Amino acid sequence: MGSEKLHAVCIPYPAQGHINPMLKLAKLLHFRGFRITFVNTEFNHTRLLKAQGPNSLNGLSTFQFETIPDGLPPSDVDATQDIPSLCVSTKKNCLAPFRRLLAKLNHDGPPVTCIFSDAIMSFTLDAAQELGIPDLLLWTASACGFMAYVQYRSLMDKGFTPLKDESYLTNGYLDTVIDWIPGMKGIRLKDMPSFIRTTDPDDVMLGFAMGELERARKASAIIFNTFDALEQEVLDAIAPMYPPIYTIGPLQLLLDQIHDSKLQLIGSNLWKEEPECLKWLDSKEPNSVVYVNYGSITVMTPQQLIEFAWGLANSNQSFLWILRPDLVSGESAILPPEFVAETEDRGLLAGWCPQEQVLTHRAIGGFLTHNGWNSIIEGLCAGVPMICWPFFAEQQTNCRYCCTEWGIGMEIDSDVKRDEVAKLVRELMEGEKGKEMKKKTMEWKLTAEAATTGPNGSSYLNLEKMFEHVLL
Ligand code: UDP
Repeated sequence: MGSEKLHAVCIPYPAQGHINPMLKLAKLLHFRGFRITFVNTEFNHTRLLKAQGPNSLNGLSTFQFETIPDGLPPSDVDATQDIPSLCVSTKKNCLAPFRRLLAKLNHDGPPVTCIFSDAIMSFTLDAAQELGIPDLLLWTASACGFMAYVQYRSLMDKGFTPLKDESYLTNGYLDTVIDWIPGMKGIRLKDMPSFIRTTDPDDVMLGFAMGELERARKASAIIFNTFDALEQEVLDAIAPMYPPIYTIGPLQLLLDQIHDSKLQLIGSNLWKEEPECLKWLDSKEPNSVVYVNYGSITVMTPQQLIEFAWGLANSNQSFLWILRPDLVSGESAILPPEFVAETEDRGLLAGWCPQEQVLTHRAIGGFLTHNGWNSIIEGLCAGVPMICWPFFAEQQTNCRYCCTEWGIGMEIDSDVKRDEVAKLVRELMEGEKGKEMKKKTMEWKLTAEAATTGPNGSSYLNLEKMFEHVLL
C-alpha cells in the first residue's frame, strides 16, 4: 500500500524523552510507506523550531507536523514544563483540540488510518474509538518500569502507599522487599517508581500513573522500546494482562538500517545542541572520558551541583559535563572558580549535546546518568557502562535493573557526596568493577544488535508483526 492509503498520526507526550522515541517510530513507519502527521504541543513546536532552525521540520511532503495546545498558560521560557501540571493539563484539555485536528486532517487529505500515541496520552483512545481506527500506544520507558506502575493499585490496596507520614521516607521503610510481583524478584519499595513516596492519598502523579496504565488495557496494542532478551521475565508477566505487546527496541538500531537522508534531517531537540563537544572528544584517547548528563527533566540543588563538581575534579578523570540551562533549582548555577581552574585542561562543560553521537564516540568510557530510559538504552547500544543517580519516576526501577540484573551500572546515593562521586568515577574508568561492567555492557550491545537484525532478531520480527497488526 502507498502512503495515500496509510496515514498515521503520531502524538508523543510533550517532553524530550517521549518526543525522541516517538519520532524514531514515526520514521520507521514513514519508511514503510505511511504518511505521517506528527503532533507536538504548540509550546514544544516553538522550541523545536528555535533549537533546530525553521527548515528542520519540513523536508518531506508526506511527513508533516501539526500542533495542539497543551492547555497550560502561555510561556516563552525555554525550559522543561512542570510535569504534574502537564500531566493534569494534557489529560483534561487535549482531547478536544486533538479531535478537531483529526477532523481537519480527514477533511483536507487522505484520511487518518491509525494513531500511534504515547501511552500516557490515553485520551487519544477516545478519539480513535470515535473514528473506528486503531490506537497503538508507545510506552517510552522500560518494561520493568511499566510493570512497577502496574503494581501501584496493589501497593495502595495493601497500604504500602501513600506513606503514613514523612518519617517513612527515612526510617528504612523503603527497604521493604515486595515479593509478589512476577518478574521482579527482590524488588524493594525504594525501587518502585518514585511517586509512591507521598503521604497524599490524592497525589496527582500516583493517580495519573495508575489511571493511564489502566486505560492502556483498551489500546489496540502496546509498543515497547526494549528487546526481549533484556526484560524477558517482566515482558512475559505483562503479556497476559494487556493487549498484544510489540517489543521493537532499541528503536535507534532499527533506524540505523534505513538510509534516508531527508528522514535523518528531521530532528527532535528542544535545546540547541553544542556540536563542539564532538570536536573536543576527537582530541581524547579511546575510553578516556566520562560523560555526565541528567536528561531533560532532572533538577538538582546548588549544593548537589557542587558535590558533583568536586567529585569530578577529584576523580582526576577527563569529563564532558552537560549542564542544561534549567538543571539547577533556584538562582542560576555557579561553579566555584577554583573548580573551573583546576579542571580546565580535562573537562568540557556544555548546555546540551547530541547525546547519541557523544555516547558512540570512541573517547567515551563511562556515563554518569539519571537513568532515564532513553539514556540507558542509548548507553547500552553504545556499550558504555554507567553510574546511576536516578532522579524520579521509574528511573529508580531502571537503576535497580542496571545495577542488579544487567550488571551495567553502579548506584550513587541520592544524597550525593563528592567523595563517593570521585570514588565511583575512578572505579568506572579504571577499576575492576568498571572493567566487568564494560564487558557486560558490550555483551548487551551485541544482544541488542542481534535483536534488531533480520531475519530472526526478535525486535526485527516484532516490527513486522506490528505492521501486520496495523494493516489488518
Ligand atoms: N538528550 C540529548 N542531549 C542532551 C541530553 C539529553 O540529546 O544533552 C536526549 C537523550 O539522548 C535522550 C533524551 O534526551 O534521548 C532524554 O531522555 P531520557 O529518557 O534519558 O531522560 P528524560 O529527559 O526523559 O528524563
